[in-house]
Amino acid sequence: MSIKQNIEKIRADIPSGVTLVNVSKTQPIEKLWSAYEAGERVFGESRPRELESKYNELPKDIEWHMIGSLQTNKVKYIAPFVNLIHSVDSERLLEMINREALKCGRVIDVLLEIFVAQESTKHGWKGDELTSYLSSQRCRDLKGVRIRGVMGMASFTDDREQVRREFKELNSEFVALKERFFRGDDDKFDTLSMGMSGDFRIAIEQGSTMVRVGSSIFN
Ligand SMILES: *Cc1c(COP(=O)(O)O)cnc(C)c1O
Repeated sequence: MSIKQNIEKIRADIPSGVTLVNVSKTQPIEKLWSAYEAGERVFGESRPRELESKYNELPKDIEWHMIGSLQTNKVKYIAPFVNLIHSVDSERLLEMINREALKCGRVIDVLLEIFVAQESTKHGWKGDELTSYLSSQRCRDLKGVRIRGVMGMASFTDDREQVRREFKELNSEFVALKERFFRGDDDKFDTLSMGMSGDFRIAIEQGSTMVRVGSSIFN
């Protein structure tokens, strides 16, 4: 099937309130053009330099999301234009994004990556690390970032019940963080990024507001 047909098929299963991030990492620019021509405007990449060069080549009405793990020394390549960073898994990274955002006169939207999967390779804040940080004054001092929600990945497994449980857990954490830390008038904690090609339908059923789909669009 063509990219356009893949997108139509996926879109048919995505309710209007859920954002589709077209995960175009490692894909050549022609394939991004095909998705663009099919009407897609939100793209996700996992390497800062690749993201930067695709941003430079493609139309400026595209929203660019950074979804992969991000090294602090590479934040500068994407800070001038990135729309959402999904993969914020440490205070150090959050501080670097803040610093680079302020240099560009921007406020950058970010998601906190939370770890729920079984595999130890997946990134994310662990245990009390996140709540103790969010309780701190240091967190409130960051004026260059706006925390918009949570991102997570389920385990890579055929056990759909396990995947469902993990997405449910992510949703509970999202709701709990919102209640505890993001109830102010200035807060906009509204994004739960979960679900990829193999599991986005389960993620949507469990309350996802943003799915990141790559291989079933582009491959
Ligand atoms: C690659 C990637 C995706 C897309 O995965 P597919 O299985 O190709 O849909 C989603 N999220 C993250 C963080 C990724 O790195």
